[in-house]
Amino acid sequence: MDEQYIAPLENLIQKIRLLPAVGRKTAIKYAMRILELPPDNADAFLFAIQNAREKIHRCSKCFNMTEGELCSICSDPRRDASTICVVEDIRSLMAVERAKGYRGVYHILDGTISPIDGRGPENIHLLPLVERVEKEKTKEVIIATGMGVDGETTSMYISRMLANLPVKITRLAYGLPAGGELEFADEITLLKSIEGRQEIIIS
Ligand SMILES: [Zn+2]
Repeated sequence: MDEQYIAPLENLIQKIRLLPAVGRKTAIKYAMRILELPPDNADAFLFAIQNAREKIHRCSKCFNMTEGELCSICSDPRRDASTICVVEDIRSLMAVERAKGYRGVYHILDGTISPIDGRGPENIHLLPLVERVEKEKTKEVIIATGMGVDGETTSMYISRMLANLPVKITRLAYGLPAGGELEFADEITLLKSIEGRQEIIIS
């Protein structure tokens, strides 16, 4: 049985535990440090959370984080809007950006299709992608979901959804770690994988 702290502290510990990969011990350590912050720093900390929550929302086109209507990538005229790289999440987008060399735009799904976990196509931003490709007459969709089962299932599903549209559909080349998440791939591997992408033909 875990040691219980007085109610306000216990509550703070529980809230910190909502963060990924934070166990009880770490949460207690963070809670104690937060309580020890000078009042000004504590206020600034609270304000930073509130401000980020209020100001940051999703790009109306690609679901990236932004302060405005469109994110910095969608509103950059130097980016090639006719090529869309489809990624699972914002961390994957950042990984591709870090690899440099990709000049198209993105579409963030916010997850994958996973029948085992009960996540269907309706749980990710799939319809907005199809509508976007149709409306913007996109030339190429690069599917950059992970190489695991869920990533592959999602890739297949997207390919089928787009099959009747006049768009070239490509998938990242293998070479990425099998089952690996994009965000953990090193930059050279990721860049090679984008350059070596293969067309998906649905027959
Ligand atoms: Zn955007």
